[in-house]
Amino acid sequence: MRYVSTRGSDPVSLDTALVEGIAADGGLFMPTHLPIFAESDFSASKTIIDVAEVMLRPFFEASSLAAELENILAETFSFPIIVTPLPVEQGRASLLELFHGPTAAFKDVGAGFLAACLTRLEGDAASPLTILVATSGDTGGAVAAAFDQRPGMCVVVLYPDGRVSERQAQQLTCWSDNVLSLRVRGAFDDCQTLVKVAFADEDLCARYRFSSANSINIGRLLPQATYYADASLRHHREHGNKPGFIVPTGNLGNALACIMAREMGLPIGPIVLATNANRTIGDYFENLKWLPRPSLQTLASAMDVGDPSNMERLRGLIGEAEILRERLGVVSVDDSQIEEQIRRNYEDFNLATCPHTATATYAWRQLDAQARVADDWILVATAHAAKFETIVEPIIGEDIPLPIELAEMMTRPSRSDVIEPDVSALAAAMDQYFGN
Ligand SMILES: *Cc1c(COP(=O)(O)O)cnc(C)c1O
Repeated sequence: MRYVSTRGSDPVSLDTALVEGIAADGGLFMPTHLPIFAESDFSASKTIIDVAEVMLRPFFEASSLAAELENILAETFSFPIIVTPLPVEQGRASLLELFHGPTAAFKDVGAGFLAACLTRLEGDAASPLTILVATSGDTGGAVAAAFDQRPGMCVVVLYPDGRVSERQAQQLTCWSDNVLSLRVRGAFDDCQTLVKVAFADEDLCARYRFSSANSINIGRLLPQATYYADASLRHHREHGNKPGFIVPTGNLGNALACIMAREMGLPIGPIVLATNANRTIGDYFENLKWLPRPSLQTLASAMDVGDPSNMERLRGLIGEAEILRERLGVVSVDDSQIEEQIRRNYEDFNLATCPHTATATYAWRQLDAQARVADDWILVATAHAAKFETIVEPIIGEDIPLPIELAEMMTRPSRSDVIEPDVSALAAAMDQYFGN
C-alpha cells in the first residue's frame, strides 16, 4: 500500500508517511485505495486486536513494520474499549467508551499506536527522535503518556502557563526523564508558533531530530478505524442489524475513521457528526460553501475547531457537500444544550458524561422517534467525565470518582520549567535538560 497527499504529490510508503506526518506539499496522507472486507474475513477474530490485525494488514503491506503489526496492536490496545448498553425505553442505544486508556480520552489509541510505530522505525538511543508538541490540554497528555519511557524517543511538551486545569497540568508533567514539560509564558497560539519556529531553526535542527505527533498523522487515523470495526461486527453478530454511530467531532479525525470503516465494508449504518457551537461543518452541508473560521471557545473544548483539517481528506474520499450531506448527518450543539444533556444523562441513565460526549447524546435525543427505533445507535464517549470535573460536577451535584489511571497519575511527582515564548529560551531549556 502507498500513501498519497490530498494535494496530489507522488505516493510514499507507510513508513515515510508516519515519520513525516504531513506531506511535503502541505497536504495530508491518505492510502491510495481502501481495502474492502466481507464480514467473513473476521470470522476467526475474537478480540479487537484480532479484528485490527485483519483490517490493518493491507495498510502495512510493504512496510518495514509489517512483521511487528501484532506487537504494535498489543501495545495500542493495552486497555479495554467497552460498549455499555443504555437503559432506553424504545429502540437500542449504547455507549462506545474510548476513555479507559492512560489519559482517559480516545486520543490514547492513536497516540499509542503512533508511538509504537515511530519507536520501531526511528528509535535511536544515540540520537533520539524528539517529538515536539504544543498543547492546550488534552493532546499533550496523550502524546507524553504514549512516548513515556520509550527507548530512543524524547518528547518536549509546550503548554500555556496558568491556562490549563490542575488535573491537566499533572497529566503533562508527571512523566519520566525522556519527557520535558515546559510552561510557556503566553497563550496556546504562542506554543504553536514556537513549535513552528523550532522546526525551521537550523541550529536546533542540527542538534535534535525533530518530529511531530499531531492529529493529522495517518498513524492516528488507522487504529481509530478498528474500534468502529470491532464494535459494529459484534453488534451485527449479536443483533442482526448495522448500528449507526454518533461521533463527537472537532478536527474530524475520529469521525473520519468511522466513515473509512464503513467504506471498507464494515456493517455500519448511518453516521452522525455531533459538533459544538463551531458550526463550520454544519454550515458547509447546509450552504454548500466551505468557510473555515476562527474557533469559538465552548465547554467541549477539545472540539473547538473552526477549520477542521481532516475535511480535506473527507472531500477527497467521498466528495463535496452535495454528496457528503446525503451520506452523513451533522448536528451542532451549543453550550446550554451541552449542560442540559449532562443533567439529563445523569437523571435518565445515572451516567456522568463529559461535555464532548454530551454532544452525541444531544444528537441522539433529537433524532425523530422513528429514526431512534429504526436503527440501533452507538454513541461515542470520547473522554471520562472526571477529566472535566469543574464542568460536570456542579451540574450533577456529585463528585465523580477518578478512574484508577488518573488517580494514580495524580500521586506521581511532577516537574516542569517555565520559559519565555522564544526559540532561544526553548533551546536553552532543551540543552540543559537533555545534556546537549
Ligand atoms: C480530540 C477530542 C475530540 C474531537 O476529536 P476529533 O478527532 O478532533 O474530531 C472529541 N472529544 C475529546 C474528548 C477529544 O479529546
